[in-house]
Amino acid sequence: MTHRLCAVAFTALACAPARPAPAPTPPPVSARPRLVVMITVDQLLPGYAERWPGQLTGGLARLFAEGAVFTHAYQDHAVTETAPGHATVLSGRWPRHTGIIDNGRGVGDTAAPLLEVRGPGASPRRFRGTALFDWLDAADTAARALSVSRKDRGAILPVGRAREDVYWYQAGTFTTSRYYRDSLPSWVRAFNARRVPFEAADRAWTLLLADSAYAEPDSAPWENGGRDVTFPHRLPADSQRAAAVFAGTPWIDSLTLALALEGVAELRLGRRGSTDLLAVSLSATDAIGHTFGPDSREVHDHILRLDRYLAWFLARLEAGVAPRQLVVVLTADHGVTPFPAAARARGVEAYDVALDTLMAAVNRELDAAFRSQHDPERWLVLDGGMVFLQDNGRLGAAGIALDSVWTALAARVRRVPGVARVDRPADLAGADTVTDAVARRWMHHLAPDLGVPLVITLREHSAWARTYADHGKPSDADAHVPLVFWGRGVRPGHYDGRAATVDIAPTLARLLGVAPGPALDGRVLGEALTPEP
Ligand SMILES: [Zn+2]
Repeated sequence: MTHRLCAVAFTALACAPARPAPAPTPPPVSARPRLVVMITVDQLLPGYAERWPGQLTGGLARLFAEGAVFTHAYQDHAVTETAPGHATVLSGRWPRHTGIIDNGRGVGDTAAPLLEVRGPGASPRRFRGTALFDWLDAADTAARALSVSRKDRGAILPVGRAREDVYWYQAGTFTTSRYYRDSLPSWVRAFNARRVPFEAADRAWTLLLADSAYAEPDSAPWENGGRDVTFPHRLPADSQRAAAVFAGTPWIDSLTLALALEGVAELRLGRRGSTDLLAVSLSATDAIGHTFGPDSREVHDHILRLDRYLAWFLARLEAGVAPRQLVVVLTADHGVTPFPAAARARGVEAYDVALDTLMAAVNRELDAAFRSQHDPERWLVLDGGMVFLQDNGRLGAAGIALDSVWTALAARVRRVPGVARVDRPADLAGADTVTDAVARRWMHHLAPDLGVPLVITLREHSAWARTYADHGKPSDADAHVPLVFWGRGVRPGHYDGRAATVDIAPTLARLLGVAPGPALDGRVLGEALTPEP
């Protein structure tokens, strides 16, 4: 029952190893590492590692102190959301090549229903090409992968299209979809049977450290729509509702890590003579960051907990798989922009940008030009700064001069406060991609056949109008992520050259001595590898 304690404990330090994992005699050091661990922390900002000196003492602190740390690493594409970010980390390719351009066009798949729980079906059917696990599998068909997350997209996309052990959280239990299998394995069922999220009903999230350790105000007017803004944050007394709210607390990360460790033990990952992959995506930082903002006391407390959880997780991995056999990578799927209201409160010019009225007007004008006899069409849809034309060629065929439509629309959008620029994707090819990060990120994002005639970029500090702090733009705030390699074959240190999340897969392929897939966008970060891994 140790996992149960870990999941709801106020500190993971209370988590003792559940089972004595080490073999009596450690196996000889193999030619290549036996377990690759990809940790993606949803919305983790690189600055968190240094923001609270002396307070990070666990796994995060350890990875940053002992690893190869890339200080200028980016999810270097435009729509910095969870699905495209997770699709880059182990594929080595940009969204324009993975086909995963936003969450809405991510993993949703009605043909792949969930097992044993109601919720949206999901699969990697939209993901194009291969990823690291396919390369490992091509070198050794005995290789296995386990990928776990609170989110379907966080679990699915790091392993590409591979039908491996892939599990995510839905309404209090971990599940998978029929894309992967027809029934849940007994170890996942047994894990779910502990009902940890349900039994967390009425529990309170309190501060880990003394109140004086937190410089942030506990309450700010923009937090959580004004509800439940101060500690302690109590889960609902109803167990079903508690299991839903549990997904937005620090404890979901502890539970996800516990499932990962259970799977490593059950599947004997890293102990079978092959090189296996464990991918873990942790989502609490994203939920808490959206709700309270990245400068909140809640994010501070959660990162302290995440740090302790990761200490426990790494120690357990080292106990089960010899330390010399491990390589760990830590990154994030995206950053975040603080609430514009918080920026304004500091005297910074910032806008909550809404274009719904303008887009509705343009759709009505196109209806009038098309002389639509039917219900008004939504010819243009704005999503993540991308304007999608969904007319099936009818507007052009009706003689409507689309070029002038785009020119006029761009001019109107440019006048909206908070809008930095509006680009025609075709024009971006001429941009200086070294100095113009926005152009570079859009080029990395958009396949030429996507049907996106315009892209809109907001100014720094501004955001699309939401009730929560958000990400998804091609800004440094949303694109800058931590990137740390740690373990076998890694040369520790700080590396200040520009790196990107598409560099992770080719770097791991080199470290593991496997052939990468074709046409990668990333490069091998050879500076962070020892000469003979
Ligand atoms: Zn998010």
